[in-house]
Amino acid sequence: MRPEILFPLFAPLRTLPGIGPKLETLMGKLVGPKVVDLCWHLPVGLIDRRKRPRIADIQDGEIVTIEVQVGLHVVPKLKRLPYRVHVHDESGEMQIVFFNPHADWLGRVMPEGATLILSGKVEFYQGQPQMTHPDHIVAPEEIDTLPLLEAVYPLTAGVTLKPLQKAVKAAVALAPVLGEWQDAAWLKARGWGDWQGALHAAHAPESIANLDPHDASRARLAFDELLANQLALGIVRLKMRKLPGREIKGDGHLRTKILAALPFALTGAQDAALKEIYADMGASHRMLRLLQGDVGSGKTVVALLAMLNAVEAGAQAAMMAPTEILARQHFATLEPLCAAAGVRLELLTGREKGKRRADILEALADGSIDILVGTHALFQTEVAFRALGVAVVDEQHRFGVHQRLALQSKGGVGTDVLVMTATPIPRTLTLTAYGDMDVSRLHEKPAGRQPIDTRALPLERLEGVVDSLHRALAGGAQVYWVCPLVEESDVIDAAAAEDRYAYLREIFGEAVGLVHGRMKAAEKDAAMARFEAGKTRILVATTVIEVGVNVPTATVMIIEHAERFGLAQLHQLRGRVGRGMDKSSCLLLYQTPLGETATARIKIMRETEDGFRIAEEDLRLRGAGELLGTRQSGLPEFRIADLAVHAELLAAAYDDARMILSRDSELESARGQALRVLLYLFECDEAIRNLRSG
Ligand code: ADP
Ligand code: MG
Repeated sequence: MRPEILFPLFAPLRTLPGIGPKLETLMGKLVGPKVVDLCWHLPVGLIDRRKRPRIADIQDGEIVTIEVQVGLHVVPKLKRLPYRVHVHDESGEMQIVFFNPHADWLGRVMPEGATLILSGKVEFYQGQPQMTHPDHIVAPEEIDTLPLLEAVYPLTAGVTLKPLQKAVKAAVALAPVLGEWQDAAWLKARGWGDWQGALHAAHAPESIANLDPHDASRARLAFDELLANQLALGIVRLKMRKLPGREIKGDGHLRTKILAALPFALTGAQDAALKEIYADMGASHRMLRLLQGDVGSGKTVVALLAMLNAVEAGAQAAMMAPTEILARQHFATLEPLCAAAGVRLELLTGREKGKRRADILEALADGSIDILVGTHALFQTEVAFRALGVAVVDEQHRFGVHQRLALQSKGGVGTDVLVMTATPIPRTLTLTAYGDMDVSRLHEKPAGRQPIDTRALPLERLEGVVDSLHRALAGGAQVYWVCPLVEESDVIDAAAAEDRYAYLREIFGEAVGLVHGRMKAAEKDAAMARFEAGKTRILVATTVIEVGVNVPTATVMIIEHAERFGLAQLHQLRGRVGRGMDKSSCLLLYQTPLGETATARIKIMRETEDGFRIAEEDLRLRGAGELLGTRQSGLPEFRIADLAVHAELLAAAYDDARMILSRDSELESARGQALRVLLYLFECDEAIRNLRSG
């Protein structure tokens, strides 16, 4: 349960004064639905009204606050002409300009003869200073109500600065004094104040320097956020480790058979990763290991050998994939190898139903199935193993602490967990998403792979590209044609793919296939199967093929509107080719003019195939928030911290979280209690539920 002290911050936006349903919706889209979301919406600029010159001393373009006497009102003869109010002080005079003002209103706020304080930007017109639509008009005795420094916030259509400022102010005012969760010595060393003070200061910048992410108040808030993230992961890690693991030590008889059946030898990187995995599995604690390796680096074989290690020791193994296509693919890859080793492998997805499903479940429960391949979802439901020794979670790039947690209940005792990810992510991100895990990286690619020839062409050359496909197809090539990602909407993406499909179909007829996210699973599978069998030679697709698809005979990847894809996505897509022994190519078709970032991305794609380098460049180019192109990635999104900037703070948060949990693993000390509030503040409720008295 969230502590009461935080209730006001977690109330909906409409609980703030001046926010009705309409503004709530608009603002909610911009910042989020809760009051606290406004607190995290930090200013990006500053209006400084502290300059108080005399009229004669005003410079062109300055924002000033001036005290003036109101003179004549000059009402325009035509409505579209400006309405002018003459004002003066002892040094000189100027005009205040209004377009289409309400004359009554103007008469009221600027009556002739009044002394007023005006604030706004002054521009010179034909050598004369004038202020158009002052931002503020107040009486001298109300000067204190005039904000001399104003924070400027990111806005959106329908949300203007003033109401947003007002809402943020109201939100920040609801921030309570909270027990300090940071270490006092650390705060002192950094020169950071308390949380509430930092929040207030972050929203009340006094200079441009205060907008810097390294500025004390922002750095403090960023560190709070990172600490919450690392602590949450640390708690999960502890919880998962607490269940004693089984000591799994295979005797190697299945491994020997598999190695004999494989047409290749393991790479050094595969061997090294397996050593680490065997050591974890053989130890009394649970394994919680991340196997990170680029597309095609050979993770599947490593996973298989890890699973066989469990089978050798009399236990079962499971492999979970994020999509049905992937689960089937893994199954197809593993099947002949398992057959060679005499191991029983089964597949269980939403499509295995009725008797077939019941049989599988029964065979799982009695232990006659050695290895089960399925989708993530299934493993959260009714599936029961006799003795699940190791679970391999193929996350590709959907990172979920949730799934890792859900695994706890499987197999009773602590099942060893090996998470595979094909998205090489930068080190900093590995920490935020997987701070709870040990990491093995497959850097080396299996020998014999040829580099993929990557080129970029403007979309205007599309017809030429289509022409050249005739030659490629005649030479036996198989081609992926990936269609633009228009929005994060599979309806629109599907439409784009269907259009391209229709176009190519007119030219290449039956040789063209189509697969997209709106198709039924069976249709998708059928389309994939036709392509794999070589019946179709051009496969038009959306990014559904980004993950896991393995057709080694496909050697050409065409990506339409490459400028719309993130680097990581381009890299994933390109990884669909170059999987066999034939030379492959990748063509990036882009819309001109190409922006700076897109130009840089395409350049990097042409320069390297090293996924780890691409990931670092991606972080540099786009910042962590957008790193994977889509928000569904499951990677933690930070509101304040910016991983491209705060890497050092992340490392400190990682250390701090480990130290805190080593001393107070249930967060029961005074600081521990304060840290619980921190976790709630950053919505890590899930982690708290894993504490003893959560
Ligand atoms: P990943 O899952 O990391 O994308 P896979 O495990 O699917 O990669 O491996 C990609 C391809 O490389 C497969 O066809 C696999 O059989 C092959 N492969 C794996 N390990 C090796 C190796 N050591 N030498 C040669 N080929 C390998
Ligand atoms: Mg694979």
